[in-house]
Amino acid sequence: MQTVRGSGNNRGIGRFPPSMTKRNAFIASDLLFSHVSGVVWPPVSSAQQAAVLALLFQMESSQWLSKFALRKRQSIQLRALLEHACCHCNYYQERLPVGGARVWDSVPILTRQDLQIHFDALLADSFPSAHGKTFDITTGGSTGEPVTVRRTQLTQLFWKAATLRDHLWHRRDFSKTMAIIRHFDRPMDLSRPGRWGNGVFRSGPAWHLPISTDIDRQLHWLQSINPDILLTYPPNLSALMARMLQENVSLSRLREVRTISGTVSEDLRRECQSLLGVPLVDLYSAQEVGIIGIQCPESGLLHLQSENLLVEVLNAQGQSCQDGEIGRVVVTDLHNFSMPLIRYALRDWAEQGPICSCGRGLPTLRRVKGRNRNMAYSPEGKQFWPVLGLGRFRQIIPSLRQYQLIQTEFDAMTVRLVSLLPPSVDQLQSLHATLIEALGYTYRLTWQVQPNELPETASGKFEEFISLLPTSGEF
Ligand SMILES: [Zn+2]
Repeated sequence: MQTVRGSGNNRGIGRFPPSMTKRNAFIASDLLFSHVSGVVWPPVSSAQQAAVLALLFQMESSQWLSKFALRKRQSIQLRALLEHACCHCNYYQERLPVGGARVWDSVPILTRQDLQIHFDALLADSFPSAHGKTFDITTGGSTGEPVTVRRTQLTQLFWKAATLRDHLWHRRDFSKTMAIIRHFDRPMDLSRPGRWGNGVFRSGPAWHLPISTDIDRQLHWLQSINPDILLTYPPNLSALMARMLQENVSLSRLREVRTISGTVSEDLRRECQSLLGVPLVDLYSAQEVGIIGIQCPESGLLHLQSENLLVEVLNAQGQSCQDGEIGRVVVTDLHNFSMPLIRYALRDWAEQGPICSCGRGLPTLRRVKGRNRNMAYSPEGKQFWPVLGLGRFRQIIPSLRQYQLIQTEFDAMTVRLVSLLPPSVDQLQSLHATLIEALGYTYRLTWQVQPNELPETASGKFEEFISLLPTSGEF
């Protein structure tokens, strides 16, 4: 896709937004999925896909607004969210200051512990029916503290639009094959590929493999698919590349690696380019709020998705960080009216970025820190990404606040639990069985139970899983 940088000349009223070029028009008419049988051209989308396209169309324009114009529009939506939260959520009725957005700095930070403790009070007693059905997602993120968030179909609309924006920014050829190695919330039929155009664009196949698959099997699977695009987590990519180097294996069609849910170091980017010969494109997202930042195709900075989220990077004094300063990421989801998340602290740390040279007004992060998790080893010494039970842990021990696994030997792990009440023998036995099932191997487990929160590392990084064994796959 040809994208024209924003300039003062072509952003006037009555002109096309700068990114709407002839090339865009071609994609809109030729690659769109038609949901009406018998109609091939021009394609007719379903109501849901048409809504995604309509949003995407607006976002193609709004990305070029100035930082201040974006902030002004965010404020209008923020006021609507705050009014709704004050009227319909017990949690906010007691906590939001009079004056709402005008006294933003005094709006309290919402922590993961708040989400755990006040889930019911955070739910709205009602919200507009046009926001669609609700669904709950449970995530441990990188913190080892499982939280549940209720979201709506409307929030998914923004997620889909941002996903497509990422594809368009990076000019992905929708006809290509994508291989996805990650954690899946739901059981999936892995024998057949899905599609990666979100039902909006006609796209090539998307093959899926669970992240818990060991590296050798991943490599074998990748060779059989020979994808054009690979999507996975940064530590998994690192382990894969190390194995490919050892085995002298290459993927002949690969043209891009995409990463999610982890910290991407400059070393990893360099290794990806030198070893695989392709660029690495990162995406910053969180299950609770959706896509937060998309890598700029020109500068490499992460552009925040201001149309949906108000993202703050706050220093120790609770003030907004300046360019180059590192602080905690705090997010307000402007469109989740079923469970408003206002100033929600993700426990990620990020470095505030500058205004991007590409011309987009969407603010930037230079990098995100503290989302990595170590790879585990099986008792036989095979590396894999541990997928843990998350929500199920708290079903077994309701007072569980946090957990951490530390692999001390190939067949042994220490499980650290933070719980106000000491778990019973039955609860520990049940958790033992759940953990062994989640890990897929039988380990000797040693338990450590404590009432106080587990410490973060100096950078604010908390690791759900730590391996003390040598990490041959790390660059
Ligand atoms: Zn940019």
